[in-house]
Amino acid sequence: MEYEVIVIGGGQAGLAMGYSLKQKNVSFIIIDENEQTGISWRKRYDSLRLFTPRNYSQLHGFHVRGDPKGFPDKNEMADYLNVFRIKNDLPIVHNEKVIKLSKNGEKKFSVITQSKTYKAKQIVVATGAFYNPFVPNIHDGTASFDIHASKYRNPSQIPKGNVLIIGAGNTGVQIAAELNKTHQVTLSQSKPMKSVPQVIAGRSLFWWLEKFRIGRAKPNSFIGKILREREPLIGNDYKTVKKM
Ligand SMILES: Cc1cc2nc3c(=O)[nH]c(=O)nc-3n(C[C@H](O)[C@H](O)[C@H](O)COP(=O)(O)OP(=O)(O)OC[C@H]3O[C@@H](n4cnc5c(N)ncnc54)[C@H](O)[C@@H]3O)c2cc1C
Repeated sequence: MEYEVIVIGGGQAGLAMGYSLKQKNVSFIIIDENEQTGISWRKRYDSLRLFTPRNYSQLHGFHVRGDPKGFPDKNEMADYLNVFRIKNDLPIVHNEKVIKLSKNGEKKFSVITQSKTYKAKQIVVATGAFYNPFVPNIHDGTASFDIHASKYRNPSQIPKGNVLIIGAGNTGVQIAAELNKTHQVTLSQSKPMKSVPQVIAGRSLFWWLEKFRIGRAKPNSFIGKILREREPLIGNDYKTVKKM
């Protein structure tokens, strides 16, 4: 069967796209390599709580259950996405990894997975900006133990003693703050970072970004360039850890 659109990836972005295509009666399927919707959230570390409140984490007006101003944990988010898919009856093929995409002629694409070839006139790639971790090759054999953040789940994985966290983005800082309670942690950063509070005057940071239209700044505008250059750290964890 040939579809009008194939969406590759069934995370937030792919599901949101699927919902919109369904509203417009466009024929489509979503192809996802995981066995269940929401897995990319479930695979993240146990203590992960979103920095976007529930009312800023929802799709198309479908509420995330609970206090709209509260912050959902990763499993809540995964469950929410799964329910969103089921309630909206979005057609999704699981357990199929897209390994090749090719264009045949003017207006046709072949989407090739390990087991099948699908055809469509248009393709949406929604495979996630954070889905494939970048793991630098820094092993020199001196560390007794090392682990990438994408494989980190909780402090019980980390042997007792000193821990060096390399990378002071939001993930590195949150893991550093968590390990700080059980280990001696040092956070390595290439430059001092700036953190912004998660809640300002009782309102979510994202409410303020929306109010002043900062979140909608074009990539090449003055504000857009600043935001592209350094993603701010959200919350107060950065202040609690030792840095080098
Ligand atoms: C630690 C961490 C914390 C975060 N916290 C927040 C937060 O608080 N708030 C927020 O808004 N965002 C947060 N993000 C960003 C978050 O990743 C995105 O908001 C959200 O997951 C992006 O959705 P997505 O659909 O673009 O990608 P993903 O959720 O990553 O979905 C990508 C999908 O594509 C599928 N896929 C990938 N490659 C293939 C392939 N070759 N073939 C088939 N399927 C494929 C995957 O199985 C997956 O289901 C966080 C990210 C990280 C890493």
